[in-house]
Amino acid sequence: MPDRKPCGKHAVLGSNAAVRVTQCPCGAVHVTLIANGVTVRVNEETLRGITHGLMSALDQVEEREGVRVN
Ligand SMILES: [Zn+2]
Repeated sequence: MPDRKPCGKHAVLGSNAAVRVTQCPCGAVHVTLIANGVTVRVNEETLRGITHGLMSALDQVEEREGVRVN
């Protein structure tokens, strides 16, 4: 693990109408669901897991709807 910096100003990793993801200098990632204002605090490893899980779910949904992205 690299040295962790103290908490401070968050950098925005990603933001859209549904979700806002920021990262604290200490490494903590905050995922805020805009719809209900719930923020989940995770590490990078968990962010990766969440993202892959959501992508799989989206694949299923789009397959069902017959929508093809790309
Ligand atoms: Zn922090």
